[in-house]
Amino acid sequence: MKDGPGFSDMSRRSSEPLLRLDDTQLSPLLIDGATARRGAAKPLLPQAQANQYPLDDSRVLALPTPQTPEEEEILVRSFLSGLEKLFSRENNWTFLQPLLLTMEHCARCQTCSDACHIFEASGGAEIYRPTYRSEILRRLYFEHVKGGGLLSRWQHGSVDLNWPMVARLAELAYRCNLCRRCAQACPIGVDNGLVAHEIRKLFSQEMGIAPKELHASGSMLQLKAGSSTGMPPAVVKDNVQFIDEEMAEKAGLPVETPWDVEGADILLVHNAGEILAWPENPGAFGIILNQAGVSWTMSSDLAGYDSVNYGLWYDDAQFARVAVRHAEAARKLKVKKIVIGECGHAHKSLLVIADRLLTGDLNIPRESFLTVLRDIVASGRLELDPSRNAFPVTLHDPCNMVRLMGIVEPQREILRAICPQFREMHPHGVDNYCCGGGSGFAIMSGNTFPDWRSQISGRKKLQQILDVFSDCLDPAQPKYVCAPCSNCKGQIRDLLAYHDVWKANRIQYGGLVELVVNAMADVKPGFIEWEWH
Ligand code: SF4
Ligand code: SF4
Repeated sequence: MKDGPGFSDMSRRSSEPLLRLDDTQLSPLLIDGATARRGAAKPLLPQAQANQYPLDDSRVLALPTPQTPEEEEILVRSFLSGLEKLFSRENNWTFLQPLLLTMEHCARCQTCSDACHIFEASGGAEIYRPTYRSEILRRLYFEHVKGGGLLSRWQHGSVDLNWPMVARLAELAYRCNLCRRCAQACPIGVDNGLVAHEIRKLFSQEMGIAPKELHASGSMLQLKAGSSTGMPPAVVKDNVQFIDEEMAEKAGLPVETPWDVEGADILLVHNAGEILAWPENPGAFGIILNQAGVSWTMSSDLAGYDSVNYGLWYDDAQFARVAVRHAEAARKLKVKKIVIGECGHAHKSLLVIADRLLTGDLNIPRESFLTVLRDIVASGRLELDPSRNAFPVTLHDPCNMVRLMGIVEPQREILRAICPQFREMHPHGVDNYCCGGGSGFAIMSGNTFPDWRSQISGRKKLQQILDVFSDCLDPAQPKYVCAPCSNCKGQIRDLLAYHDVWKANRIQYGGLVELVVNAMADVKPGFIEWEWH
């Protein structure tokens, strides 16, 4: 292990961050395995720290600033109350079992550290080691939940539980993408990603502390307005109608999105961010489904048109409220199944985690668009001309769909059929690296966090992209990173822009359906435009 902050430093009463990373500590960014690209990265600027006890040079949370020992004590007691609830079946029946396994069994072999892109990119910064936050929670668990005592302290160690420690732990829960690559690597099945998730949950559910992007402008806005974008139903319908008209002109085909069709085979639910940021994505879905003769609809019910469920990342109660809204929209329309569009966390939310919640007539069949699209392409219902996609294409595997759900092949079957120059990143599939925007990072834009995720959490993905196109980095040759997930796409856009890769190497990003439409023989050529967006 490298020297670095120990566990006791978390309790330090100092306004100096525990970690200050400078450019020289980060793993080098290489082109063709040789040229260091460090100069392209801006340093993480020390910022005015609004939190009393900062962790590093970035900040996600607006924490309380207690002014007296008594105020601190109230916050620490609240934390302890949440800690006890995390370990009670009554309050945490969903995740207690894997959490206990993680607390009770860790061989401290550090295999997981080598698997973590954040730890690696930071040059091995101790506080980003996957086991660092787990070890703190483990010590607190043995001492404050299981009873502690001298023997426990000797056996498991201890940490000073005070407000500085609690405050830094809250922030530390947001230096993990919840990608669970570490859990996959662990020979015992210990899940350090789950630990970060459970700590976030404790702070949100017990102390009301969560990033505003996930809670106030995320779950709360979605439940109130119908979408975390703030678009109410009338606005979303207007926007989609406008997209339909634009896409019809662009593709040279009629495009019409059906709304609120009772009994349709498919209720398609997009991440509504696509409608605002990447209209060609919902437009491409419309073109494909209409041309393939699919019976489908969108819903204008509150939350029925936005698959986002940020509760997945920080709060089980908010997660449940949004998941039920999604299922209710489908039940009302009596559709045969719900299909989730290009959004990874929405896949995991509604297709997997909601299984524990949606019972009876809310348990409506749910499917990924990836298998639906693969079946359409394989059926021959679309006339496809792969020569229209005659440029190098690679695939980013969204962690939620691939490692965490096992959807690996359908997207590859499609790409092999329509992209003659498709090539894999290394590693890929379930061994992929997170884009660095996972677990909500891609939408967190305050303070220096965009710098942090472009330099640290996204660094490994950027290196993979540069490596996979190392034979064709010349900007004369356009290249395409296919990222079939809205959040991954946003992070990859930010990465390519931050490190000047679009300008220097002409690497574009986009979704999967756009590539399919670009290859459709009856669509006007040039659906994919080689302009930065
Ligand atoms: S979590 Fe697993 S891989 Fe990591 S140190 Fe513990 S036993 Fe080893
Ligand atoms: S879940 Fe991912 S980001 Fe978090 S510690 Fe594990 S490997 Fe690192």
